[in-house]
Amino acid sequence: MELTIEHLSKTYPGGVQALQDVSLTVRSGMFGLLGPNGAGKSTLMRIIATLQEPDSGTIMLNGLDVLKEKHAVRKLLGYLPQEFGLDPKVTAEDLLDHLAVLKGIASRNRRREHVDHLLAKANLTAHRKKRLGVYSGGMKQRFGIAQALLGDPRLLIVDEPTAGLDPEERIRFHNILSEIGENIVVILSTHIVADVSDVCRNMAIIHKGQLLLNRNPLDAIQTMAGNVWRRIVDRQAMPLLENRHIVISSRLFGGRIKVRIYCESDPGDGFQPAEPDLEDVYFMTIRHHDAEFAGRHVFASGG
Ligand code: ADP
Repeated sequence: MELTIEHLSKTYPGGVQALQDVSLTVRSGMFGLLGPNGAGKSTLMRIIATLQEPDSGTIMLNGLDVLKEKHAVRKLLGYLPQEFGLDPKVTAEDLLDHLAVLKGIASRNRRREHVDHLLAKANLTAHRKKRLGVYSGGMKQRFGIAQALLGDPRLLIVDEPTAGLDPEERIRFHNILSEIGENIVVILSTHIVADVSDVCRNMAIIHKGQLLLNRNPLDAIQTMAGNVWRRIVDRQAMPLLENRHIVISSRLFGGRIKVRIYCESDPGDGFQPAEPDLEDVYFMTIRHHDAEFAGRHVFASGG
């Protein structure tokens, strides 16, 4: 399975350029599309899911023209949108059965088999007879995956699935996704870096409608080896550090601030070497782009 996106652009009425000349190839396995809110992720996901038209560009899925052969593509596609409504009065098993009818699975026995299989895959077998209105957020998202897998899609698109899930539910959701991703193309769109570092073998970073980076997360992290430094400081020290160093991130920690900076040699100032992680790659990539946009140069070696 291969999804090839070339030169995709989309501007909304009103002038927001949601996608600017995006080109990207995605192969089987879990692919993470990472970007802050407003980056253009949902727009890209909806266009791939044949629900929206781009202004220009092409998308091919294993030789099928996604923008022209929508009907054929929909047969290969499962989609879990960012928000989806569920009738609270219906049970999980009844709704899946109903959706399976709509998918064209006419045989009652085949439907039962398929629904059983999907409920098991989504870890919902024990809750199959419960009404969806009593499902927790995590159960609803797992139900969302089960419905997206109806008809055995070859490409699964999952838009911001873990926002609002508690840590345990997120792990459960990740496990289900990575199992699915062994056989088909799964695109996971998210603004949560840990979603990508936990489950995705390949990834891209999108920001302000532009694709900024597309590579294996481990390789991307490796490019920053030796250049990330950390220190815990008092809040008052921050303005000076921000003046003197390229701050990748700073976050509160026990009432003080954990700072990570980028520097290609020992920065002094009491900083210790740190192991780079995907968050460093993400923040640095976005920062580099914004600085370039503002005409400043902050980052020599690129990610
Ligand atoms: P993300 O999913 O990364 O948060 P979106 O694709 O939803 O990003 O949005 C990208 C940009 O396009 C944002 O600036 C958003 O406000 C704008 N946008 C999204 N949908 C519409 C729309 N229907 N009409 C106008 N602007 C939109």
